[in-house]
Amino acid sequence: MTEKKPTVGFISLGCPKNLVDSEVMMGLLDRGGARLTAKPEDADILVVNTCSFIDSAKQESVDTILEMARFKTEGRATKLIVAGCLVERYRDEIQKNIPEVDAVVGTGELEAILEAAGIAQVPSGAQDSPFKILTGAGHNVVQHHHGQESMAGTHMHAATSRAEGDVREEQGRFKRDDWQGAAHELPTYLYNETTPRLLSTGKVSAYIKIAEGCDHPCTFCVIPNLRGKFRSRRFESVVAEAEALVANGVRELTLIGQDTTCYGEDLGLKDGLALLLDRLAQIPKLKWLRFLYAYPNRISNELLATIARHDKICSYLDVPLQHAAPTTLKRMKRGAGAEIFLKTLAKAKKAVPGLVLRTAFIVGFPGETAEEFAELEEFVKAAEFDWMGVFNYSDEEGAGAYKLEDKLQKRTIEARRKKLMQLQQKISRKAKREWIGRELDILVEGESEETPLLWEARSQFHAPEIDGKLYINDFGPNDALKTGKFYRARITETHDYDLVAEIISKPLAD
Ligand code: SF4
Repeated sequence: MTEKKPTVGFISLGCPKNLVDSEVMMGLLDRGGARLTAKPEDADILVVNTCSFIDSAKQESVDTILEMARFKTEGRATKLIVAGCLVERYRDEIQKNIPEVDAVVGTGELEAILEAAGIAQVPSGAQDSPFKILTGAGHNVVQHHHGQESMAGTHMHAATSRAEGDVREEQGRFKRDDWQGAAHELPTYLYNETTPRLLSTGKVSAYIKIAEGCDHPCTFCVIPNLRGKFRSRRFESVVAEAEALVANGVRELTLIGQDTTCYGEDLGLKDGLALLLDRLAQIPKLKWLRFLYAYPNRISNELLATIARHDKICSYLDVPLQHAAPTTLKRMKRGAGAEIFLKTLAKAKKAVPGLVLRTAFIVGFPGETAEEFAELEEFVKAAEFDWMGVFNYSDEEGAGAYKLEDKLQKRTIEARRKKLMQLQQKISRKAKREWIGRELDILVEGESEETPLLWEARSQFHAPEIDGKLYINDFGPNDALKTGKFYRARITETHDYDLVAEIISKPLAD
């Protein structure tokens, strides 16, 4: 262990779930006395928290590691640590192939970041609040490209798993045997309300990871193999974290997990997510509460009724459907199809007036015929999503679909992605026009990176980072706007995906 506390540069790749892991590791390092820096050239230790979901993410991870390795060979850094999903996939290979890497930290051992960095563990309770918020220039300290209690988190045991997960485990869903370089054991870790976190998403908005892992059998997905079986955080732990975040000034909470709609099943809760939302919506100063990543057949009436019951719960539903042709969905081992989905979406819109829908699809899944793709197009036309992402199928070793025949050519896959996005562009352009004149509360996020003439904001219908932009070109009764404050605004202009608004109030009371 070193006496002098090091300066650490942290790079977080991948999704918000990985970002929360980064925030936990940064919190642990911060509590251990390390200083965080946004500049890799100033860092003694560099940490890259990687993503390994699909090939392009792996490539970005490897490129970033190599880029950071240069600061070790040519600059001041003395240690390079690789964390995250890539470690779960290629633990041994990383150090073998990139000798500059000094240590690896898997998703199930976040506390090991301290030992890897040569920092002694500080007992929990040594700090008043588990949160620190990166402010001002420090906001970019994290570079974000796109049972048995341990010191900081909890290692779950089989007793708390879901029956579905146990069955899938027996069927070999979580096996890593085909993966050279991966450790055998699946991660079981979950952070809790006492775990330090350094928030990188500003003072006002924060993610809360309510569960980790996934028990679903989707054949294109290796996340269960990387992240382990589904496990929920304790109800009280999530509530305590949410209350502490709000006490620290956070006003928007976004609940995440691989599948948030399974929340609580392993704890014996029925409608666990609805119960949790109901409880969190009672936190007085919280303004917006949302959850991402709903699984389509788990959108219960109670969940919808809960969203409708509370003004604080955003009228926003993110439900990645992945496809719409029943035959493709069957090969994906997800089931259902356009007809059932349309019924679910209609039910959701009826239960929650003004509900905004987000989804994501995968095109070019093995064997996807022209007819199946046409079914997907028809479904997209009928469903009229507010926000939609389309991803090209990526062949992942270890995923069920890897062994399927009839793989499509890359250029066919890309052509289908473009075609679906063009279709959505038209749908979105038309739907967005309906927004003109609408008044709504918005959260100001700061000056636009594109031009200092515009500011950027979000409404309850825009989840952080993923949805279209909301630009402000008129400050109304304000000489200047304050980042992190809520205002009333009116939509004055719309584009394919983006909206333009004028502010019509002073900052709203906290
Ligand atoms: S629900 Fe399916 S796609 Fe999502 S993480 Fe689980 S296995 Fe992967």
